Amino acid sequence: MPDAVAIVGAGVAGAAAAIRLAERGVPVDLYEAVPEPRPIGAGLLLQPTGQRVLAAMGLLDGALALGVRVDRLFGDTPSGRAVLDMSYRRFHADAYGLGIQRGALMDLLWQRVRELGIAWHCGAAVEDFEQDAGGVTLRVAGRAPARHAALILANGSFSRLRQRMKVAQHARPFAWGAVWTVLPAPAGFPQVELRQRFRSASQMLGLMPVGKAAAGDTAQGINLFWSLPVAELEGWAGRTALAALKRQMCDLFPGVAPLLAGLHEAAQLREARYADVWMARWHDGRVLAIGDCAHGMSPQLGQGANMALIDAHELAAEADGGDWRAVFARYTRRRRAHLRFYGQASKGLTPMFQSHAVVAPWLRDRFFGWGGRLPYIHQQSIATLAGVKTGWLWGRLKL
Ligand SMILES: Cc1cc2nc3c(=O)[nH]c(=O)nc-3n(C[C@H](O)[C@H](O)[C@H](O)COP(=O)(O)OP(=O)(O)OC[C@H]3O[C@@H](n4cnc5c(N)ncnc54)[C@H](O)[C@@H]3O)c2cc1C
Repeated sequence: MPDAVAIVGAGVAGAAAAIRLAERGVPVDLYEAVPEPRPIGAGLLLQPTGQRVLAAMGLLDGALALGVRVDRLFGDTPSGRAVLDMSYRRFHADAYGLGIQRGALMDLLWQRVRELGIAWHCGAAVEDFEQDAGGVTLRVAGRAPARHAALILANGSFSRLRQRMKVAQHARPFAWGAVWTVLPAPAGFPQVELRQRFRSASQMLGLMPVGKAAAGDTAQGINLFWSLPVAELEGWAGRTALAALKRQMCDLFPGVAPLLAGLHEAAQLREARYADVWMARWHDGRVLAIGDCAHGMSPQLGQGANMALIDAHELAAEADGGDWRAVFARYTRRRRAHLRFYGQASKGLTPMFQSHAVVAPWLRDRFFGWGGRLPYIHQQSIATLAGVKTGWLWGRLKL
């Protein structure tokens, strides 16, 4: 019987799962479709929960050397009405978010994958799988079928392999996405807070300090996020002159002007699309889905990479003995409350920040700032952001 576990996708979820399992002595084969994975991707805000997983992998110091401690999240309207004002210190005296470039995080994870000697197959797109009583057979483009003890799908929100799992599920693409880029921070540009500016729910600009792309770099990056309906994302660069887009951004938030001096061409802006992924459970026999593949959500709560790290950590905690069906079933039970809460919270919040809705953002502008000044509401909001909640009224994740 084969004893190695196959992981499909070497993003945050797949790479972290490979590391945590290999550390427990589980043989792993990591399959990645991209022939030469390069460290690219948006800036991420890693929450205290995700930071704890990085610490367990021995990678937190490296991440801190590259990223930036974010103390506060502040969002307001053009008229100056504060909508969000959350300070990590009100969650815990030592707490902070870690702004980091996805590429920098991936470099750290991939370096650890190599150090652990994990079998990593690049340019290996997994096209299909079949499971039976003794294992799982993978069909990989251009290669002979490969046999494994179990299969972990970590290949993102738009995974087609997930549909082969006999589990009730849906993946609904969001009507809104974004363009984003990382720009060099001009001298004196604020580096301690995630800054957002909203006009209703149809315009949103986000600025987040994300530190260096690599060790040895001197430039500190600011991640710029501009919300757009998917219909406008299609070929936006051809239709909208960059100058016009920059004017819209400055009109919404004049303070962004010095940063935009570093935005010279449309090609610097990358598109992002999301899907809301729901599964009745995350396992089907010897097959498990983790990361965005299992629970993709909008980026409003800044939890996707965080959840991917937690998935990997919690999976390894259950991975004793060779009975993968039992391990995966226990994993589903262990993750249920946490993932359900964040799935619901993300769904509830998204129309308030990215939509053509009128009432939801009006309510947001009237009540979020006011509610946030109440200690209980502030505590609940910052605990949600920190990634620890497992229920609406009570329940905390223990890692
Ligand atoms: C603009 C933006 C801002 C974000 N901000 C935050 C934030 O502040 N905080 C946060 O925590 N999260 C944030 N996220 C979300 C976060 O980036 C994702 O949730 C996280 O990266 C998901 O990781 P993953 O490994 O599950 O999936 P992915 O990163 O999508 O990785 C999937 C991997 O699988 C590979 N693959 C796909 N199909 C196959 C196949 N058939 N065979 C082999 N390989 C395959 C892909 O090439 C890829 O490498 C943000 C996302 C965006 C777009």
